[in-house]
Amino acid sequence: MTALLETRGLTAFYGDFQALFGVDITIAEGETIAIIGANGAGKTTLMRAISGVLRSDPETILCRGEAIGALAAPDILARGIAMVPEGRRLFPSLTVEENLLVGAYGKRRGAWTLGGIYDLLPILKERRNTPATALSGGQQQMVAIGRALMANPDVLLCDEISLGLAPVVVRDIYAAFPRIRASGAAIVIVEQDIGQALKVADQVYCMMEGRVTLSGRPEELSRDDIHAAYFGAP
Ligand code: ATP
Repeated sequence: MTALLETRGLTAFYGDFQALFGVDITIAEGETIAIIGANGAGKTTLMRAISGVLRSDPETILCRGEAIGALAAPDILARGIAMVPEGRRLFPSLTVEENLLVGAYGKRRGAWTLGGIYDLLPILKERRNTPATALSGGQQQMVAIGRALMANPDVLLCDEISLGLAPVVVRDIYAAFPRIRASGAAIVIVEQDIGQALKVADQVYCMMEGRVTLSGRPEELSRDDIHAAYFGAP
């Protein structure tokens, strides 16, 4: 069966520095996968390559079998792959609602409208006329997720959405995920919190120094295996 999204031998460079060395990941329709790994492992670079922020060799990224590696970010978004970027990158001078509406750019139609997002994350409705910068970090993260959903993606890429947030806030954010899954979207989460990753993902990939060092279903992975894949063999 053709995968929804696949990387095959994906490489990435920053000038002469090689950040990814032949990364293979596969995402099926509606599946949630987690990418874990220490700082600098290459997780963000992988997200940037898939979302078209970094260009790759065409055949190293496939969407339903179509080579998309060389496409620019707007063309990737048009194919249904949306990103919640690390650091949220909201438009500071725009209100919550205006930030959400920016995400509706494009012609894809689906379940996610402004009303759908407000239903999923009611605090955003309450704060819809507030400038994005006046929100708490957790609320800003919700806006970033809502903005990506407004594109009605088939794949939602979430880069370190827990970073810098209190555990109770992280819990509130992840509480929205079952409904995002139920909408049919596949989800890729990049997480430094291994426990969180194992809780939500159907499939986990661990990266170290630009390579996938371990992958499997959470129940197949032992703590020792994960430790070795994350930090290297002792
Ligand atoms: P983090 O959790 O810190 O975000 P990460 O797993 O997402 O880590 P990346 O940000 O993808 O890792 O970085 C992978 C490697 O590429 C690191 O060695 C990093 O220093 C390097 N790197 C990332 N961005 C750039 C850049 N713009 N220019 C040069 N090197 C970069």
